[in-house]
Order: sequence, then C-alpha cells, then structure tokens
Amino acid sequence: MNPLKMVRTQIKSALNEMDLDPVIYDLLAAPKRFYDFSFPVKMDDGNIKIFKGYRSQHNDALGPNKGGLRFHQNVTADEVKALSAWMTFKCAVVGLPYGGGKGGVIVDPRTLSENELERLSRAWMRAFHSVIGEYKDIPAPDVNTNQQIMSWMLDESNTIFGKGEVALLTGKPIALGGSLGRTEATGYGVAFMVKKVAEKIELPLENSTVVIQGFGNVGSYAAKKLVDYGCKIIAVSDVYGAICNPKGIDVRELKQFVEAGNKVSDFPNVTTIDRDSIFNIKCDILVPAALENSINEENADVIECKIIAEGANGPTTPKADKILLKKGIFIIPDILANAGGVTVSYFEWSQNLYGHYWSKKEVLQKEEDKMIEAFEQIYELMCEKKIKNMRKAAFMFAIEKISKVMKLRGWC
Ligand code: NAD
Repeated sequence: MNPLKMVRTQIKSALNEMDLDPVIYDLLAAPKRFYDFSFPVKMDDGNIKIFKGYRSQHNDALGPNKGGLRFHQNVTADEVKALSAWMTFKCAVVGLPYGGGKGGVIVDPRTLSENELERLSRAWMRAFHSVIGEYKDIPAPDVNTNQQIMSWMLDESNTIFGKGEVALLTGKPIALGGSLGRTEATGYGVAFMVKKVAEKIELPLENSTVVIQGFGNVGSYAAKKLVDYGCKIIAVSDVYGAICNPKGIDVRELKQFVEAGNKVSDFPNVTTIDRDSIFNIKCDILVPAALENSINEENADVIECKIIAEGANGPTTPKADKILLKKGIFIIPDILANAGGVTVSYFEWSQNLYGHYWSKKEVLQKEEDKMIEAFEQIYELMCEKKIKNMRKAAFMFAIEKISKVMKLRGWC
C-alpha cells in the first residue's frame, strides 16, 4: 500500500472520533514543505552520476522538523512524505518540541564503494544545506545510513557554513557530539513498551517467545533488551533470509556475527527458513523491524501472537490492522513503539546546544521515563474512550496536541 495513503487513513480514523474542524485533516494530510533535489556525484570510474533526493517537512507547529534520512533504491516521494508525517505524530506522542521531517535518496548503497558513499553523503549536504538547520530541520540516520555518514555530512556542513553546528544532525558518533545511548535507544524503547503492555495484559515475559523481522539497529537492540527481560528469541530474519530455533537463538552471538558482515541465514546451528515465512511462526511477541507494509492483508491471517511491537515505521497496513485487532492482538503502534530513537536524538540535540553531556545510564533512564509517561497517557485515553486500537488512540493524543498549537498559531 502507498504509505501516504496509509497515514491519511490513520489520520482520518482518529479524526472520526474527534470533534475538530475538518481543516485539521487538510493541514495534516500533506507536508507543509517538500524538496526534491537532483545532485551530481563523481563515481570511482570518473563518470558523473545524478542522484535524486527528497526532504519532507511535514508540520512544524510544535518545533523544528526532525527525522531520519534513508538511502534505499525504493525510496519514493510519497514514502518520504508519509514518514515525515509519522515523525510529526511520534514527536507529539512523546512530548518533544519538534515537528516531523524525513529524507530519502534513491540509491542502493551496497552498489557503492566507501569513497563513493562518502562523496554521495557530502554531495547530499551541499544540495540540502539551505533547507536544514539546528532550529529548522535536523536529520538523523535511518535505513542504510549510519554514524559515519552523519560524520561526513557534518564535516561538509562545517565547510559550507564556515562554522561547526554540531546540533545540525543527530545520530553522530560520541567523539563528534553524539549521545551515549543513541545507538540502542530505538530497539530498547521497543522493549520498554513491550514490558508495559505485557504488564497490562498479564503476560509474564520470562520465557515468552519472540519473532524479530529485520535484524539491523532496531531489531537487534530490541532483541537484546527482550532477552534481558527473560524472553526467548525463536526466529529472526534479514533482507536475505530467516532462521529459527524453538529453544532460543543466542542474540548476542548473532549480533556479532551480523556486525562482522554476515547474513542472518548463515548463522550456525539453527534452522534456515524462507524469509517471509517468519510470520507463520506462532509466538507471544512479534517485532517487525524492517520496512513498511511487511504485515498486510496477505499475511495478517496467519499471524498468531499476543503483542505486535512496531519497531519499523508503517509495518502494518490498515487492512491488516483490522484483521489483527479482530484476533485480539495488542498492537503497539510505531509512533509510540519506536519513539525512543527520536527521544534520544532530542537528548543529543539538547546536550549539543547546552554543551553538557549525560551518562548512558541517565540517557536511557530519561528515555524510559518519557516513553512510559506517553504510554500511560495513551492507555488512559484508550480506557476513557473505550478504544481497543492503540494506534487510533495514539493518533488522537498527538492530533489533539498539534491542533491546539496550530490554533494558537492561527493556522486554523
Ligand atoms: P537497518 O538498516 O539498521 O536494518 C534494517 C534491517 O531490516 C536489516 O537487517 C535488513 O536486512 C532488514 N530487512 C530489510 N528488508 C527486509 C525484509 N523484507 N525482510 C526481512 N528483513 C528485512 O535499519 P533500522 O535503523 O534498524 O530501521 C528499521 C526500521 O525502523 C525502519 O522502518 C526505520 O524507519 C525504523 N526506525 C529506525 C529508527 C532508528 O533509530 N534506527 C528509529 C525509528 C524507526
């Protein structure tokens, strides 16, 4: 499903329960600003290749736009617009003084050499520097972008601006002004939310079974924290394939194995299965942590679990949502479940602006507190309005906040 249609359906579904001016939908259905740049990069063979990149600034009522930058061959304008809208709602959910932004470049980085990737990252900054800024729009890593890419981009921005604006990007290495705890923040946040839901539905986490789709930054850290809580990870996938072991997979070893450049499916002493059949495995907790549309009307019927914690953005289509809710599955929506990443990005930005840095323990505790506070407020709204659908409640909670500020600003 087109992700922009998906987010619009989600906005409409929340607005149906709210008594707001219809213009709120128009204000939220499309980004306030959208940039579309083509920029040249010199390849190793001396040829020039033109890359296309987008940046979407969805809504800045609550503060400067904030959101990741994705390098992927399937990036589209609508996907970037949708991802920026989800960022607006996510920041509102966890109470951050940010609006939503997102960017993407159409490229498969696996086809580039290290030098080409650096030149692409620097060229991105030259193309987009005028539309971003530490009080305007603050990018961060997303799928296929990382701390090294942020470092090259920050360095290029210093040359362009003639000064170091360290808060211009988040997700930086610690040595370049990054925050302790940022790397694990999103995955750990997913686990914090699973723990809260497990308490509410009285599911003991000790020996609970978990299936993880996507074993990158989010999936691997969510798995690690869930293991700390006593859960058993019984299946894991990446883009190449999947593995399962009903007795439990050693996640720490798997993480080291993958970080050494291996595929999940080459991990020894486990059963290899077809990548997408991971959804057929019965479990207590399912964590989609790959890309949008992973859970759709074609596989929702076969999914058997108690909790779905959306590590990825937009992994569940609205049709699948309905099927899963009917089955009584508790879905922790992306705009809450994976909000730990932007929460710690906000901490990174604040630490950069203050020039004062916190310990990892402090960062992760503040993250957990912020997410639990958001969770409790949304859960209370679910109980008050008798809504079983946490996504709808989270959207209502966010839209209420954003619409109040848009009204104060005179936008509606
Ligand atoms: P990543 O690039 O580190 O990892 C992505 C993982 O998904 C990889 O293991 C990849 O092999 C796997 N994958 C891709 N397609 C797949 C498929 N069809 N089936 C199974 N696995 C597949 O990316 P990430 O940072 O972990 O992000 C994952 C998701 O979480 C994205 O939707 C992203 O927008 C979202 N997210 C990330 C953060 C963050 O801080 N990194 C924050 C919020 C949301």
